[in-house]
Amino acid sequence: MTLTILKIGGSIITKKNSIEPEINHAELKRVCREIKEGKNGKLILIHGAGSYGHPIVNRTGIHKGISNEEQLKAFGETQALQNELNSMVCKELKKTGLPAIPIQASSSAVMEKGQLLYIDTRVIKGLLDLGMVPVLYGVPAYDVEQGCSILSGDVIITYLALELNADNVIHASDVDGVYDKDPKKHEDAVLLKELLTLDNLNVTGSNHVDVTGGMRKKISQLLNAGVTARIINGLKEGMITLALKGEKGIGTIIKSGRVQNHL
Ligand code: ATP
Repeated sequence: MTLTILKIGGSIITKKNSIEPEINHAELKRVCREIKEGKNGKLILIHGAGSYGHPIVNRTGIHKGISNEEQLKAFGETQALQNELNSMVCKELKKTGLPAIPIQASSSAVMEKGQLLYIDTRVIKGLLDLGMVPVLYGVPAYDVEQGCSILSGDVIITYLALELNADNVIHASDVDGVYDKDPKKHEDAVLLKELLTLDNLNVTGSNHVDVTGGMRKKISQLLNAGVTARIINGLKEGMITLALKGEKGIGTIIKSGRVQNHL
C-alpha cells in the first residue's frame, strides 16, 4: 500500500495574519472533506501553526532558546496552544469518518541547535499499519543545546518522508506553487512547474509573522534531504483531493534525489 504525507499550511487552516490565535473554520472543514475524498492508501497528516504558533514564538523568543523563567512558561504555553489547534483539526477529521489520531512529535523529538536529530517513528508506523491517520503538527521541542527550538511541520514532513520512504509528499500552502519571485509581492511572478534548485530564484519567507523560514526553508529542507514533493494551493477547492489521488501537473514539483513520487 502506498504512503502519502500531506502537510496543510498554517496559512490555510488559521488566519495567519492575526496576532492572536484564530482558526479558519470554513477552510478547515473544506480541507478535511477533501482529505477524506482523496485518501488513497496510508496517510499521515501534518499541519502548520499559523497564528497559533508564529506570533507567540516571535514574541517570547523561545525558538532561540530558554534563558529565563518567563520563557519556560512560554514553552509550555506554546505547546498547549498547538495541542488546541491539533484537537480542532482532529475533531473535524473525525466528523468526515477518518480515524485521525493526534501525535505530539515533541514527546519524542530531540533537537540540537535548532536542527532535528530524532523523532521516534515506531508508533507512527504501527498506527499506519492499523489503518489510523496520524496527525502531527509543528511544535516547540526539547533542544539539547539551547533548551528549546521549533520543530516545524516542514521539518517533520521531510524527516518522515525519508524515514518511512513515502510515495507521495505534498505541501498545501496559500499560493499555487513556487514562482520565480514572491507572487504576493510581484504581479508578474511566473509559476514554475518543476524545480531542481533554488539557485537564481527569488524565493523568500512568508509575508506574515513567521519563525520557521517560509517558502525558502520549506524547499531547501526538501532539496537537502533529497525528498521529491509537490507544492500546491490548498486554498483552491479540489486541489488537495487531486494531489492525494496522485494527479500530476498541478502546483510545482520539487524534484530531488532519493524519495521519489511513485504515484
Ligand atoms: P506555516 O509555516 O504556518 O505552515 P505555510 O506552510 O502555509 O505556513 P509559508 O511558510 O507562509 O506557508 O510559505 C508560503 C508563502 O511563501 C507564500 O504565502 C508566499 O508569500 C511566500 N513566498 C515567498 N517567495 C515565494 C516564491 N518564490 N514562490 C511562492 N511563494 C513564495
